[in-house]
Amino acid sequence: MDYSRFLNAVARKREPLLIRELFALQQKAPRDVVFLTTGVPNPDTFPIVSGSLQLRDGRTLTLDPGKMEQCLQYGPTPGYPPLLEQLRALTQKLHSPPGWGERELVVTTGSQSGLLMAMEMMLNPGDPVLVEQPCYTGALSIMSPHSPRFLPVEADEYGLRPDSLRAALSPWNPQDIRQATQGVPKFLYTVPTGSNPTGVVATEERRREVYKIAQMYNLIILEDDPYYFLQYHGKSFAPSYLQLDADGRVLRFDSFSKVVAAGLRVGWVTGPKPLIRKLNLHKGAAVISTASMSQVIISELLALWGDEGLDQHTHYLRQYYVAQRDAMLQAANKYLTGVCEWSVPTGGMFLWLKVCGVRDTWTMLLERGLEKRVMLVPGQGFMVDSTKPCQYLRASFSSTTPEEMDKGLCNLAQLIKEETELQKSVPLLKHG
Ligand code: PMP
Repeated sequence: MDYSRFLNAVARKREPLLIRELFALQQKAPRDVVFLTTGVPNPDTFPIVSGSLQLRDGRTLTLDPGKMEQCLQYGPTPGYPPLLEQLRALTQKLHSPPGWGERELVVTTGSQSGLLMAMEMMLNPGDPVLVEQPCYTGALSIMSPHSPRFLPVEADEYGLRPDSLRAALSPWNPQDIRQATQGVPKFLYTVPTGSNPTGVVATEERRREVYKIAQMYNLIILEDDPYYFLQYHGKSFAPSYLQLDADGRVLRFDSFSKVVAAGLRVGWVTGPKPLIRKLNLHKGAAVISTASMSQVIISELLALWGDEGLDQHTHYLRQYYVAQRDAMLQAANKYLTGVCEWSVPTGGMFLWLKVCGVRDTWTMLLERGLEKRVMLVPGQGFMVDSTKPCQYLRASFSSTTPEEMDKGLCNLAQLIKEETELQKSVPLLKHG
């Protein structure tokens, strides 16, 4: 594939930084070469020399002076080399992407920074962009300042709707779109597993159909998958877009935020080498390297766990969040039956509620939510046009107790009741 058409003028201008290149050279050079090049601080001045972290399972993760020195020093821009190796092995094991030799990985500061770099590498002001609707707010917040022309692609309980994707692309002829560099959609952004905010896991059939359309229109798929391990449908996982990627048109965003710890800020992007190289140049200019301490901690943890330990941990996460989800569903059934509509989240951390008798959840929540002692995220935040009224809201079941969920949805039911009454009275007032 020719990737140059996907890059905007800024990304094309990004060149390797000499200092970073020399740093990479230093990592590989024979030990007797005297490098008087990079201005890294002298480790002898670091005030911390070693450390140990207590794990929940009783074990200890020890950072001896050698490891600690790596934690406290700059690292190579693509990532801490042992972690990169582990992520390569993990990605290969989980997704067996075709044409592995043509792909590369880069560690990111959470998947959010990967998304930002990828979108800012491709977007031109005013470009049409295909986004799943409803859409993760963090992705909208990256794209919106670039004033794109959002082409929303509707999703249902099976994932992105191919008919909606085709309709969004219908103004263009596939032949014209395939080569153009500006003014045509170049990528599709989607969260295929446990969508934030809907909790939907896209089916294999849908993913295959969407991939075929992407092939026809020569689109890059931005597969944002931080909830990959949080799939609750019991069967085996649907193949990722990366797994289906025969052409090299998928940039996949993974994250340790939901698997290990969000505060460590470690994720990774996998994709075709030419695009990952550009991300690396952006990353080098933006942050030099991802926090070494975070990368070393994740790497050491993965090494301690081994494949089996990681499997056990992700199994535990699924059990934990399924119980949370079920508690939320129990409260929803108790208080919101007949008031709201929802489908059972098959992944992720959210329940997406449609409030039947309320035109706009924004005013309801922001004007009266606190008074009623409940707050959720109004659906507008996930819509590409946030000026339109929206009947939806997002309830998170990740970190509240079943008692809090019960109380929260009980309060929500009362809030909705009052809002419905209020809305009924508005036309009466208007018409005297
Ligand atoms: N994508 C989605 C769909 C998310 O829900 C989130 C976090 N809420 C992110 C990306 C960003 O995650 P990270 O902590 O890895 O930056």
